[in-house]
Amino acid sequence: MITMRNITKTYHMGENVVHALRGLDLDVKEGEFLAIMGPSGSGKSTLMNILGCLDTPDSGTYLLGGEDVSQLTDDDQARIRGRRVGFVFQQFNLLPRTPALKQVALPLMYAGLSREERLKRAREALERVGLGDRADHRPDELSGGQQQRVAIARALVNEPNIILADEPTGALDTHTGEEILNLFEKLNRQGITVIVITHDPDVGARAGRTVWIRDGLVVDHGHDAHRGPASHSQAAVKNGHTATVAPAAATGGTPS
Ligand code: ADP
Ligand code: MG
Repeated sequence: MITMRNITKTYHMGENVVHALRGLDLDVKEGEFLAIMGPSGSGKSTLMNILGCLDTPDSGTYLLGGEDVSQLTDDDQARIRGRRVGFVFQQFNLLPRTPALKQVALPLMYAGLSREERLKRAREALERVGLGDRADHRPDELSGGQQQRVAIARALVNEPNIILADEPTGALDTHTGEEILNLFEKLNRQGITVIVITHDPDVGARAGRTVWIRDGLVVDHGHDAHRGPASHSQAAVKNGHTATVAPAAATGGTPS
């Protein structure tokens, strides 16, 4: 579903040049639940912006669902986002003083639907995240976890096939963070590809695969937890050697 090759992104700040991505490769299959982990400043958010067509790379190839989206105009980026991608952020990014239902209906503004249909779909999205009974509540009347659920409902309302989440549990306590992860797991089982950027090893442990990035490059592509170890590890075991321990194993990302 996602193929990235040799992606670069450089930021210029006055005299300073920051090489945020330095020739990154990434493949994501349809239906994966992927965690992207790495230290602060390693390029995770830059990668997410490019994955979600919020930004374009300086060079390299990005195929999304077979379509080359490496160098799109702003309008084409918006079209792809509207059709394919739902975003979830650490700070929820909700509008203050706006009831949940209206909040969730907003992305449908340009979908050419009647007001009635928009509100119906928004209500369904709220029900999908377990907030059917909070439709009239404003963000300041909701807990952090509930606010993040509203944000997830807003991400779902266009029926995207990918959810991109940047530190979605970063502002939540452990228990609430787990509820949000349960919700991502549920959506993933319903067929949505989920990509979560995180510092949190607990999130990495829930994902089907963990990709590690450092200094703008993928340093470990991880392996699919549901399909057993990567083939090179199997070969190592067959040959009587101990399989290489990937960083994911140290944080519980690998079933053993
Ligand atoms: P992460 O999300 O892993 O913390 P980022 O992708 O946010 O990393 O940042 C990668 C590098 O690019 C950092 O050195 C950061 O300071 C720099 N950077 C990110 N966004 C910008 C920007 N808009 N302008 C200038 N530098 C940026
Ligand atoms: Mg970041």
